[in-house]
Amino acid sequence: MSLSFDPDALALPQGHFIGGRFIPAAGVLPMHRPSDGAAYVDCPVADADVVDQAVSAAKHALKDSGWAGLRPRERTRALHRWADLIEAEAETLARLEAVASTRPVGQLIDGDIAITAEQIRFFAEFADKEGGDLVPTADASLGMILTEPYGVVGAITPWNFPFSMAGWKLGPALAAGNAVVLKPSEMTPFSALYMAELSVRAGLPAGLINIVLGDGPTTGNAITGHPDIGKISFTGSTAAGAAIMQNIARTGIKPMTLELGGKSPQLVFADADLHLAAAAVAQGILSNAGQACVAGSRLIVAEAIAEPLAKAIAAHMASIHPGPTWDEATRYSPIISERQLGRIDAIVQAAVRAGAECFVGGKRLDREGYFYAPTLINGVSQSSPAVIEEIFGPVLTLQTFVEEEEALALADHETYGLAAGVFTRDLSRAIRVTKRLQAGTIWVNRYNRSRDHILPTGGHKRSGIGKDLGREAYLANRKSKSVLIDL
Ligand code: NAD
Repeated sequence: MSLSFDPDALALPQGHFIGGRFIPAAGVLPMHRPSDGAAYVDCPVADADVVDQAVSAAKHALKDSGWAGLRPRERTRALHRWADLIEAEAETLARLEAVASTRPVGQLIDGDIAITAEQIRFFAEFADKEGGDLVPTADASLGMILTEPYGVVGAITPWNFPFSMAGWKLGPALAAGNAVVLKPSEMTPFSALYMAELSVRAGLPAGLINIVLGDGPTTGNAITGHPDIGKISFTGSTAAGAAIMQNIARTGIKPMTLELGGKSPQLVFADADLHLAAAAVAQGILSNAGQACVAGSRLIVAEAIAEPLAKAIAAHMASIHPGPTWDEATRYSPIISERQLGRIDAIVQAAVRAGAECFVGGKRLDREGYFYAPTLINGVSQSSPAVIEEIFGPVLTLQTFVEEEEALALADHETYGLAAGVFTRDLSRAIRVTKRLQAGTIWVNRYNRSRDHILPTGGHKRSGIGKDLGREAYLANRKSKSVLIDL
């Protein structure tokens, strides 16, 4: 059966999802489909009262269901049932994701949705395997480290991988015994709403997952400043992360995980497998049209192979298959909004005016919707805005080096340290360079392919605080208590 669909005929979940049911709410923010630019529905904005209702529903769910105190295996079982239902409903989820976002429907079922279901299972298995600890103490008393959930976790997610990002937050928080109030991006709310509805159908307590829709200044602020929310888990831009830290400092101290922006380098050394590097570098910038936090947007290549590598990358860039996200055959994504498209083009044109050369692309694609041509820019300096700013589009800058030390200096970004790629056949160099790169995730001879959920992901520098995925993400959703018992 074809996954392609008519976007006008798709039934969209409406309103907030609080206490296990949809709460109608008037639409306020006009939403436009990235694939054709059509204005199709308005997103509601939850104010502080609505957020408060969601927090109350979460607290009641915890109390009434005893979620945190259940035998841990019961939490594991319930989360597996939810993952089963997510897999069973993958087609509906894929369409709800594709209609609003930049994710093509043909990449979702075996990609984002299958991977997210696996991640929920991964975290579910921690519930009955990670307990506290008994520790030897200096004076022969009994030392114990007990852990417990925070209670209600507030989660805020971006538009670029809406379903996956919701899964990254919900899986570990719920497995660790918390309830969640989640605000998806105001541009892409539908998959999270349906995901929450499925949780109730899977038998998770009503109110364990609450979805409130709205923007950052109103709804996001009400979440981060809510006194009964014990922890904040955020993914989005560095600017919004900084605003959240300020609000948390102003309204009370609470722990937070911040997964923020990036401007990740891909270093290709002269001894690299050119064919492999070209494919990986191209995929690293073209995936989701560069709208990935870990987009490998800065190519740093040995001068000796710069020309053949650029040509090989250009060939990959020419083979894209753009189309509406509701067409199963589409492989190349639109840009999320007209505004973001304009921002990408403005940075590219400024670079060209400053003397850079567009080796490939450098313009909007001539078709409906918000599409930007894959772009490779040559002749940029380390201080060029195209090299400094997170463009969040399919734009790759090219810089060359002769010595390894020079490559490392170019790779070192003053703001970001999210990810990096290293391409070389020399194992010693790979290890040496990897140790010196300031990045939370480093891929060697691959880029952003088959991310494994056992590995934590997060940023150095201003790319973030704390980790998603991995055991660390589970532990970050529990707080510890040290107990000393005199024997
Ligand atoms: P954004 O920061 O504009 O918005 C992200 C979310 O935060 C949205 O839900 C938004 O409504 C909300 N928000 C905005 N301001 C807020 C505030 N003051 N208080 C509370 N909530 C607020 O980011 P975006 O444009 O949706 O997403 C793109 C950004 O996300 C990029 O910078 C990208 O690198 C980053 N990102 C990072 C990761 C990671 O794992 N590090 C993953 C995906 C995306």
